[in-house]
Order: sequence, then structure tokens, then C-alpha cells
Amino acid sequence: MAPLDRPSPQNSNLEGALLEARAAYAAARPQSAALHEAARRVMPGGNTRTVLFWSPFPISMARGEGAMLWDADGHAYTDMLGEYTAGLFGHSEKRILDAARAAMDAGINLAGAGAREVRFAELVCARFPSIDRVRFTNSGTEANIMALSAARAFTRRAEIMVAKGGYHGGVMTFAYGQNPVNLPVPTRFMTYNDADGAIAAIRQAGDKLAAVLVEPMLGSGGCIPASREFLAALRATCTETGAVLIFDEVMTSRHAEGGLQQRLGVTPDMTTLGKYIAGGMNIGAFGGKAEIMDVFDAHRPGALPHAGTFNNNVWSMAAGCVALGEMFRGEVVEALFQRGESLRGSLNAACAQAGVAMQFTGAGSMMTAHFRTGPITTPYAPTPEEEQRRELFFLNMLEAGFYLARRGMVALSLPLAPSDLDGFGAALREFLTLRAPLLGRAG
Ligand code: PMP
Repeated sequence: MAPLDRPSPQNSNLEGALLEARAAYAAARPQSAALHEAARRVMPGGNTRTVLFWSPFPISMARGEGAMLWDADGHAYTDMLGEYTAGLFGHSEKRILDAARAAMDAGINLAGAGAREVRFAELVCARFPSIDRVRFTNSGTEANIMALSAARAFTRRAEIMVAKGGYHGGVMTFAYGQNPVNLPVPTRFMTYNDADGAIAAIRQAGDKLAAVLVEPMLGSGGCIPASREFLAALRATCTETGAVLIFDEVMTSRHAEGGLQQRLGVTPDMTTLGKYIAGGMNIGAFGGKAEIMDVFDAHRPGALPHAGTFNNNVWSMAAGCVALGEMFRGEVVEALFQRGESLRGSLNAACAQAGVAMQFTGAGSMMTAHFRTGPITTPYAPTPEEEQRRELFFLNMLEAGFYLARRGMVALSLPLAPSDLDGFGAALREFLTLRAPLLGRAG
């Protein structure tokens, strides 16, 4: 990969630098461009997953191995995105592949209950403090839908409450409050990390409120951790009003063996999971107190149905047993968390040393770049300059050979070597050196 461009008269301002970086990006990726043109004829916007869309066209990835990715134009990248947390084990972990292949060798789609789903469910229940019983789904989105349905049926109440800026799946996306794609469920909003506001809002909703659904750290919303005080306030007030407290740990369950709830010592009534827990195969799970989950107990008259052709598909169940049962446990979990803490610390030290308005928020192995100074405790609408700086950072890191989310998110995977993290730090420092005049001063 070419080193970053030296400052020149053309990139002496932010817009100029961005135009140059976009042009270099496009010129280096004719195959990705051509695939995008073909895609546009058959998919709206040439895309089937909005987070992977960006202008002028997204990168087509051709192959992955360990913590490396290769695009359709033959560029290699160190994968700092880890499939938005689902790729925790990297792209070719042998034990995961062996488990999934062995399961499929014994027959794809058996239309039956199986031993592996029992084992996988035992592993989940043993691990997460809030989960007595669990059911599996295809995705985190479905897990949240089913958890909300369970809470509404259990409480016989209709309304739910979420945080502004929260994300709970394709039909529960609250970045800008309500959204026409969202489920038609009566929804109230709270402000993330505003404990007093949330207490008042939950009390005001009273016995209309079935559930409060919240990420213990906002993932898509910018890796903004919740304070323990905020989550404890939700816990106490839900107990008071009878609303079901649901933690969406689809991303954050990686932060301790028993999820971020265990690290923070706040136990919800229900928890939703997804992403990495089946080793990178498609998965979601929702679980909680037995008395709530048992609304699905078909031994009981009037039990609720929970359907899904692929809920217990053999490859996800098999890979999940290996992922949670053998690989991501104890010291491995803690070491990944600490690696992330130390990387974020060193990235923030570099930003502070450069004196620019840039920082990384997050917890453990998840972090997001922000282009402002001061504490960030609540999602915000970025200014146009912040958006431009974020795009420039993304494009410059790609040029330096590091793949991260277009929105600036990093999620570490297990196969990343210490030298990969050092290289990422060095690329950030080079970005800061070359782009400091465009980034705004720390205030
Ligand atoms: N909840 C959270 C917190 C998520 O980050 C995501 C995915 N980004 C989901 C739910 C939805 O999961 P899926 O994409 O598997 O439907």
C-alpha cells in the first residue's frame, strides 16, 4: 500500500484532502467499483446491508484468513473490524471450521431437536447471570423482537422504552429516534446515561410499560459505555414498576465471561445475544428468568409459539458449543478485554499528544473514533466537519492497510497479533502527524 500522501497545497484544507483521498480510494479499486455497478442493477443502491454502503462504492472483500482480509482488487488489510464483533475468532479458526463442517457432514437441516442445541443452551445458561432459560434465533434482531414479545406477553402490557441512539436490529434502529422501518410497537424514549431522566420516564409510563431494552454500552451508537449508576437506576425502577429490564448484549457479551452485566454487577431480567457466540455463524439468542421465558413452554396450555426454520441449524449449534464451551472462556475473555483497554489507552494518548480534537471511546475490545474532545456519554449528531474527519480517517487507515468500520468503529478479534495492534497505533500516529491541521484543536 502506498504511504499516506504528504501534505500538499491541494490537501491543505479538509475538503481538498477528502477529495484526494476519495479519488485515490476509487482509482485503486476498479474491481470493487465494477462489482458495485453490477450490484446496482439488481439490488437497490447495490447493497443488501446498509452498514456496508458508502460512497462512491464499498469495498468488495474476496477472502479472509486469521485477522487478514483481501479485497477484490488484491489489497490486503489487517482486519480491525472483526465483522462488527461477530468475527471474534477470525476468518479461519480451525476448531470452529471443523465443528461446523463435521455437523454438516452429518447432514444439513435435519428438522429435529438435537444434542448440540442442548449443550449450547447449557453453556449460555451457565454463563450469563440473568439467563435461566434460553431460546435461539437466526439473528440479534430476531432475538430482540422475541425478547420484547416475551416481555409484553408476560406483563400483559404494550409499550416499550429504548434509548435515543440505541440500536437493536434492522427493525429497531433508533439513531435518530423513530424510523419508518421500525416495528410498529408503541415506543418511549430515554436519554442514554441520564439516570434521573430515565427514572422519571419509567415511572411516568407506569403500568403501561412492558419492557426497557438497553445496550449496556452503545455499540452502533458510538461505543459509549453506560455508567453503572444509569444501569442500576434502570434496574431499580423496572423492579418498582414491574417492567422487564432487557440488556441487549448482542455486542457487549464479549466483555466478560458472563457479559458486561457481570462486569458491571447489574443483572437484568432478560438478555439478548448474537454475533460471535456461534463462532461467526448466523445466530441470535434471548433468555432470562425462568418465569418469563416459560411463556414459551409448550408443555403448558396456552404457551406462546416461537418459530424459525433455522433457529437450531446444525452448523451454528455445533460452532457455538466450541466457541463458548472450549475457546472463549476465562482468561481468554479477560485478556481480550485488557488488550482493548490498553490499545484504547495508547490511541487516546497519541490523540492527546497531538493536541487534536479526536478520541476513542469504548470498553475492552470495542472502540469508536470521535472527532471532538470532552467526555462523550450520550449519542450526538456529528457536525459536517466531524463527518468529513471521520471519512478521512477511514480512507487514510484503509490506505495504510487497516480495515475498520466506515463510522470509525474497531472490534478486536482473537487472532490479531501484538504487531497488528502496534501497526494500527503507528498508522494512527502518522495520520495525526499529517492531518493535525485538518482535525481541529483539542478544546
Ligand atoms: N443489537 C445490537 C446491540 C447490535 O449491535 C446488533 C447488530 N449490529 C443487533 C442487535 C442485531 O443483530 P443482527 O445483525 O444479528 O440482527
